[in-house]
Amino acid sequence: MSLKLRNNQVKSSETRAICGLERLWGTSPLKSHYDVVLIGGGIHGLATAYYLAKEHGIKDVAVLERRYIGYGGSGRNTAIVRANQRTQENVKLYDEGLKLWPKLIDELDFNLMFFNCGNLNLAHSEAAVSAFRLAVSTANFCNVQSELLDPQQCKELVPALDISDRPYHPIHGGMYHGPGGIVRHDAVVWGLAKGAFKHGAHIHQGVEVLGIDTDGQKITGVQTNRGSISCNRLAVMAGGYSASVCEMVGMELPVHPLTIQAMVTQPLKPFLHHVVSSGAYHCYANQTLKGEVATGAHMDPQVNYSTTPTAWYMKHQAEALCEFLPCLKGVKFMRIWAGLADMTPDMAPIMDGNVMYDGLFIDVGWGYFGFKSGPITGKYMAEFIADDEAPDILKPFALNRFLENRYMGETAGATNYGHWN
Ligand SMILES: Cc1cc2nc3c(=O)[nH]c(=O)nc-3n(C[C@H](O)[C@H](O)[C@H](O)COP(=O)(O)OP(=O)(O)OC[C@H]3O[C@@H](n4cnc5c(N)ncnc54)[C@H](O)[C@@H]3O)c2cc1C
Repeated sequence: MSLKLRNNQVKSSETRAICGLERLWGTSPLKSHYDVVLIGGGIHGLATAYYLAKEHGIKDVAVLERRYIGYGGSGRNTAIVRANQRTQENVKLYDEGLKLWPKLIDELDFNLMFFNCGNLNLAHSEAAVSAFRLAVSTANFCNVQSELLDPQQCKELVPALDISDRPYHPIHGGMYHGPGGIVRHDAVVWGLAKGAFKHGAHIHQGVEVLGIDTDGQKITGVQTNRGSISCNRLAVMAGGYSASVCEMVGMELPVHPLTIQAMVTQPLKPFLHHVVSSGAYHCYANQTLKGEVATGAHMDPQVNYSTTPTAWYMKHQAEALCEFLPCLKGVKFMRIWAGLADMTPDMAPIMDGNVMYDGLFIDVGWGYFGFKSGPITGKYMAEFIADDEAPDILKPFALNRFLENRYMGETAGATNYGHWN
């Protein structure tokens, strides 16, 4: 490489590429019409743009992002990926999502830093062990690796765990899911933006959708801070803001924005080689490649749009962590941040098309599961938008399940027995 750089004949763009200085995606003129407009420059919007352009030849696509790409949950999450959801419909989708990461790294030619470290969920009661047993059976039924562990096996996996009777909630067992792990969230945002741009999609940062235009039963475009844009098809993928965007056409979604907070400790020598979650303590943790322990918790209880961290949460997190990982006593937190989760009553997402208006698609309600599912959902939402027909795997997630009282059983998966992120 150094020889090439000393060679005067190397073109400047080549030099930039060799040095890794080439821009990953570029700016494009904001047109007054697009075939498809996607609201939200998070993982879901970017992945959908990427697959529309790459796999369906639909390149007249704009991603409209009011701030910068990754400003929402996509740039704030704790990057946990796994497939052992609670219900079969969800397990199938997340399993495909988990298997997609290595392929995506190749396709995008971008290192997404997939760290397949496995996820251990702790059970702190016999009821939680029973719930794990059901979850393990469901996962295994769908050919997803998941196993039940006793406390001693949990300790062998994570020697730092306190499996004695000392903690307020002693450990009764665990559920281990080997295929899961961590993927670097910023890299996913940047890699998808790179791929979407390369295949012809436009990414517009600083463009806020302020209104949605309709004509009779059809979506016709959006009003933005940069003027009107007409479109044939429109998709709402606005994360925590999805419900308020849908309200622009009078659609009231069963989605509530809730704050989720996360933090990292000072860097430590490697001691935690898996993601560990505890429902009873409302706490999960993993050690990053830098050595920091990244940790998150349940959502704040009140519906709100705040992304301000709270002192209460810092105290809760410190106390909870030290209960099951007592070696962390005295370790300092270095950074704390918060983001929004768009939460549905059954903790499963809503993916639908031609809802209320022809040409209106929604991909919302991801709560704290929308990172791991981003690329696979983008792939299937692109198919939905291109073919105007829901792929089979998305059908159970239609909005009408709330009208028909067909709630999915993911709620217990997240809250009752420690199934976090
Ligand atoms: C602290 C935290 C930890 C989490 N941990 C995990 C985890 O470990 N694993 C996991 O799977 N998930 C996790 N999540 C959830 C995950 O981050 C989200 O579900 C996911 O990022 C949603 O992606 P998205 O593309 O749908 O939305 P977002 O990433 O939120 O993107 C939506 C974008 O829309 C933009 N927007 C909003 N309104 C408008 C408008 N009117 N006009 C234009 N643009 C607009 C926003 O600025 C935003 O950038 C976590 C979330 C948080 C906050």
